Amino acid sequence: MAVFDQIFIAGAWQPASGQSLALINPDTEAQEAQLVCASPDQCAEAVAAARRAFDAGWGQADLATRRAALERVITQIEARAEELAQTISTEIGAPIDFARKGQVAAGLAHLRATLVALDGLVEDCPLTNHPEHRLRYEPLGVAALITPWNWPLNQVALKLGGALAAGCCMVLKPSELSSRTALVLAEAMEAADLPPGVFNLITGAGDIGAALVQNRDVDIVSFTGSTRTGRFIAAEAAQNMTRTVLELGGKSPNILFEDCDLPLAITQGLAHCFRNAGQSCNAASRMLVARDIYERAVALAAEGAAQTRVDRPALPGAHIGPQITALQYARVQDYVSQGLAEGARLIAGGPGRPDHLDHGFYSRPTVFADVTPDMAIFTDEIFGPVLTMTPFDSEEEAIALANQTEYGLAGYIQTADPARADRVARALRVGMVQINGQSRENGAPFGGRGLSGYGREAGLFGIRAFQDAKSISGAVA
Ligand code: ADP
Repeated sequence: MAVFDQIFIAGAWQPASGQSLALINPDTEAQEAQLVCASPDQCAEAVAAARRAFDAGWGQADLATRRAALERVITQIEARAEELAQTISTEIGAPIDFARKGQVAAGLAHLRATLVALDGLVEDCPLTNHPEHRLRYEPLGVAALITPWNWPLNQVALKLGGALAAGCCMVLKPSELSSRTALVLAEAMEAADLPPGVFNLITGAGDIGAALVQNRDVDIVSFTGSTRTGRFIAAEAAQNMTRTVLELGGKSPNILFEDCDLPLAITQGLAHCFRNAGQSCNAASRMLVARDIYERAVALAAEGAAQTRVDRPALPGAHIGPQITALQYARVQDYVSQGLAEGARLIAGGPGRPDHLDHGFYSRPTVFADVTPDMAIFTDEIFGPVLTMTPFDSEEEAIALANQTEYGLAGYIQTADPARADRVARALRVGMVQINGQSRENGAPFGGRGLSGYGREAGLFGIRAFQDAKSISGAVA
């Protein structure tokens, strides 16, 4: 059985000496590898290496140096794109086409957008019209990057690109469930030839994540993951007043008005909700539909969901693969049972695995209609391929339903009326709005409000998150 036991600190690989974890393949349900985690001492060693690299010069690296470093990183990741896609597909069960065109391509696109933002970056400018008052943006120092398993390259790329471009040194602690992808990435980082200690990788579970957050030499924690863990990190980081960027869960509304292109809205809405087996923080998982088109929408959604192909990750043409773990599968199943018990109308999918798959953590693409705001399937983030549909009678009611959530990550609007699109976009309490299937711009700020967390990633905002503004007043005559 393969054993993954390496970590990367101060420009060199070393064996990890912490606990061992079994890695289960979500398709076969068999243990196929073992991960040896970093020890708490190695976590401290990685932070110290990052601190040394920052103090020894990376903290003063100019824009051109950082830009060239990021370009080398992109080139090295591009060179490993297929290896990364294969690793992601095996590790999290993502269909291979999606791993290539969705996961890896998205990660690279975010890094390229960071490069563009770096080109126009202002780091030293007058604060007012008086030259004796200046503003300087400076890197915060050592960044801890704690990432989840659902987008193993992309979420790391968002943080890593911003931190590197800002001039920080970093310690990456990927999810224990997606560390093999991070190990390939670390090989790319090694080949990119950064000064030792600028990038460090340690493996581990929540305990090592917590040790990182508690380390006083960490200046900023950039975290993506569950709201539960985000709360813990915010509280722990507060002990040292360590900055945090938290990108957490979501339960994002997709509003279909009566004037939208209904077949297109349904096709795109299903694909968005089911993408990555529903394991995306910004999944459009609550569909709100104008009463006039509701029954037609329900019929189209039932048809579309039934055509969604759930299959083994290695097979070309599969739309979605399994849930990541037995626990996550059980969680999805619980919500499907709960939806039925709560009296929602099941129009596609349902409990259990698709008939043609006899093993693996596969859920059926499921759609519930007539879902009301008091139901758990309306309020809770399921993180599985489960779509809810709810009718509304007016624009006001649509907005109220959309905002009836503690989350606030994304909102999706389908309408042919530009004035309405604008009104609703303003009224949604979210960080990101997409209208009529328009995809997000890669450099646009990514993040949310409420229980979806705070702070922004990607592009210029993603760089600034790792910097501090220093005001300097007074000129020396
Ligand atoms: P999920 O429940 O979807 O696996 P988590 O939010 O638990 O998501 O995990 C996201 C990342 O946070 C992973 O890298 C995980 O190891 C890490 N993590 C989990 N618990 C903690 C914690 N208490 N402190 C810091 N990091 C943690």
